[in-house]
Amino acid sequence: MTPKNARCIAPTGAKRTRFRERPAFEEGLWDLGHDLYAWMVPNGSWGESNSGLLVGKGQSLLVDTLWDVRHTRTMLDAMDPLLRGAPLHLLVNTHADGDHFWGNQLIGEDVETITSAAARTEMDLHTPASMLGFMNLGKALMATPIGPAKRVGHWFSAMCLPYNFYEVTHTPAKETFSGTVWREIGGRKVQLIEVGPAHTSGDLMVYVPDAKTLFAGDIVFIGSTPVMWAGPVENWLNALDLILDLDVETIVPGHGPVTNKDGVRMVKSYWEYVHGAARRCHEQKHSAAAAARQIVSSVDFLALPFAQWDSPERMMTNIHVLYRQFEGRGGHMSVLAKINLMRKQALLAYALPGAAPKMMRRVDASL
Ligand SMILES: [Zn+2]
Repeated sequence: MTPKNARCIAPTGAKRTRFRERPAFEEGLWDLGHDLYAWMVPNGSWGESNSGLLVGKGQSLLVDTLWDVRHTRTMLDAMDPLLRGAPLHLLVNTHADGDHFWGNQLIGEDVETITSAAARTEMDLHTPASMLGFMNLGKALMATPIGPAKRVGHWFSAMCLPYNFYEVTHTPAKETFSGTVWREIGGRKVQLIEVGPAHTSGDLMVYVPDAKTLFAGDIVFIGSTPVMWAGPVENWLNALDLILDLDVETIVPGHGPVTNKDGVRMVKSYWEYVHGAARRCHEQKHSAAAAARQIVSSVDFLALPFAQWDSPERMMTNIHVLYRQFEGRGGHMSVLAKINLMRKQALLAYALPGAAPKMMRRVDASL
């Protein structure tokens, strides 16, 4: 599915992903043609997020930083030869998840930073302290003698293992917009398109018409199960239709390999399937947790291509958020509600023997 013009020009040489899986594509800086680049991180699991770079005349645009300082520094070092003649002028954060903005502190004070107003509000809820709390909860649970708690603790801790959240200074984007805006960078026009709330409350995408390229943020996941923290699902489907209507040939997803409209159609079919299945379970009065377990283990689902995607247990969050939507319960989920969802999600991962990344599940007979 990778467009022909995309190739890795500065690989990191990593033989394994951060979660010790075999990489499905090369990690490093990819040349997309038309002076566009992407920092690609296999396999698109937790924090294995991609960034984009547009190089114009004397100015560049960066789309997203990464989940911590060290990984963002490695990326910026690889981009340095490109940035010498065209320093960063603008950083766009596609949404408020930490894996798309927690490297912002490495971006110079003179660089403009922008995100949607809704994402900016949500950024203040996603502080490094909240993730450190999650990590410490994982450690505490691992130390308990109770099997299921130990399993959840291992899963929480394993998610944080490749990252250093202690070094992160909360640095949200300064400027905000709503709707759609055009910006000019080194003589090139880019369009920032707000499509949230969908994955999060303020998702946006960056469209580069002169290169028929889109940096889609987490509206597009490839080979990795999309997770819906906000919804409604209709907004997500509308955003995917919007991409299909754009004049684009190359799409950089928030997670997973570079793709094209076929990849977008696959994400659309995932949401159509999950939406329909959730609706049926809701009508039959199944609980959200039971519905998630049933859907993700069904013969129907297992025959579909997205059953092979990384982190199928995200179905747990997706069904809960769909149920909230069906029942008219909107608004932000509390931190405690989110942690409880992650707990259920972790336990679901243990019930799915094929779920990747494998190292997040501690397989131990004593549990
Ligand atoms: Zn992400």
